[in-house]
Amino acid sequence: MKRVAVLTSGGDAPGMNAAIRAVVRTAIYHHLEAVGVMRGFEGLIDGDFVPLNRASVGGIIHRGGTILKTARSERFKTEAGLDRALFQLKNAAIDGLVIIGGDGSFRGGQKLYEKGVSVIGVPGTIDNDVAGTDETIGFDTAVNTALEAVKKLRDTASSHDRLFIVEVMGREAGFIALEVAVASGAEYLVVPELPFSLGRLCDKLHDTRARGKTHSLIIVAEGAMSAATLRSELKDTAGYDARVTVLGYIQRGGSPTSFDAILASRMGAFAVESLLDGKKGMMVGTVAHQMSLCSLSDSWQVNKILSPEKLELVEKLSI
Ligand code: ATP
Repeated sequence: MKRVAVLTSGGDAPGMNAAIRAVVRTAIYHHLEAVGVMRGFEGLIDGDFVPLNRASVGGIIHRGGTILKTARSERFKTEAGLDRALFQLKNAAIDGLVIIGGDGSFRGGQKLYEKGVSVIGVPGTIDNDVAGTDETIGFDTAVNTALEAVKKLRDTASSHDRLFIVEVMGREAGFIALEVAVASGAEYLVVPELPFSLGRLCDKLHDTRARGKTHSLIIVAEGAMSAATLRSELKDTAGYDARVTVLGYIQRGGSPTSFDAILASRMGAFAVESLLDGKKGMMVGTVAHQMSLCSLSDSWQVNKILSPEKLELVEKLSI
């Protein structure tokens, strides 16, 4: 193996730069050449490659976003797009490709792997909805960003005796919502994985008020329902007047937490060393804090579930 390429794909996530840095520096450490692919699979199709040296990734470990830019590529899903990407990889004499992204990016990576490319995936998405790893790069930062906002809202909620609904990111998964709910001591959690009962929520709010608590916090994952819809339903059904905050894209930005910078560094280095070990069609991950490898396809074929223990905690500790 002589030349390793790295790309970022799907939604950006804090820590992607730290992962790029780790891939490049580990490659150089092992006397390999490193190449960056701009704009994910779009750049791969266009042959938009940049040589990377140890200095090109200097000063980026704490920067949010991705210096390689990211994209969602419809062209790559076509036969012609895939063929063109394969041509570009061959033309640039790339021996191994590290893909930093979510499960969608790994579906794309699998297609390249099936055509003979040595692909290793690095899970980088704030959603943490990738099976085969306990954590994804960016998740911890997103949770902390959301938590900071929620803590500020809590101050207002308690000062004004208000009911607050905070909508956090998570189109298909409630991982961010669950962590934020536990860490902020929220009274109620609405996630896509669990059926929602307006009746149960109203009972809970009623009980909470009956015990003299005048402010409450509901965390809702965007994929379950919008905070605005929940507010209308609460108003129409039980007369509750809730304030709504939608955190949105601020959760995707910012400098990675120490946890994410370290996770990204470990995963990026392990990805290159796995390639050197002859591994391909696999994704690096962490299981019980140890580096691990699984098939790329596990990332979307295996169902990653919310921790039942943490779900129970939200219920138990919000009495
Ligand atoms: P995030 O979790 O942040 O959304 P992701 O990697 O899951 O990240 P997607 O938009 O689902 O983001 O996927 C990124 C890109 O991967 C797509 O734009 C597309 O180019 C490629 N991709 C996704 N699914 C496939 C597929 N089935 N076949 C080929 N390429 C795919």
